[in-house]
Amino acid sequence: MKFCQQCASPIILKVPDGDDKPRHCCSNCDSIFYQNPKNVVGTLPVYEDKVLLCRRAIEPRIGKWTLPAGYMENGESSLNGAIRETIEEAGAEIIVASDSLYTLYNLPKINQVYMFFRAELANLDFAPGAESLEVELFTEAEIPWKEIAFTVVKSTLELYFADLKSSHFPVRMFDVHHHKDTGITTKLISHSSVNGSSKDNSSLP
Ligand SMILES: [Zn+2]
Repeated sequence: MKFCQQCASPIILKVPDGDDKPRHCCSNCDSIFYQNPKNVVGTLPVYEDKVLLCRRAIEPRIGKWTLPAGYMENGESSLNGAIRETIEEAGAEIIVASDSLYTLYNLPKINQVYMFFRAELANLDFAPGAESLEVELFTEAEIPWKEIAFTVVKSTLELYFADLKSSHFPVRMFDVHHHKDTGITTKLISHSSVNGSSKDNSSLP
């Protein structure tokens, strides 16, 4: 950001009075332009023993497979954003249960929070949207695991197929750290308890 959106004067980076972090401040008027993390919301659409993936038609990771997901719009809820992205990218009509929230990833390095919701395909009338090259259903064995676009998507898919064995799908939150040399690590921060299950959590990743 170079110029004030209010008065078009140059923007300077400074710590405003009463604040403790540098902000984009107008050099002329009192405007301060705060920059905060963005929410990326998506779904894990399921049909029988298969999940729906989209092959990306856009950068980054063009040609790689992902779950339908995208930035939340102002004025919408996280779940409604995820449903909208599923329609836009996969042309898919989905049914979501009240316990649909599944995974949450904090990515402080790139200032994003990812949220995925479990969903069921309402029918098989899906089709690639403008941002997808292909949309396809995959069993666990069929998933192109080496061609998954994002760590958070791979993580969510792995958790889903692991949880499927017990049909319990706790909500999990992760911190994702980007390291200079060693790539990306995903650390489980918390998970919801699994009602009605006597299983312990020792098998959690
Ligand atoms: Zn200004």
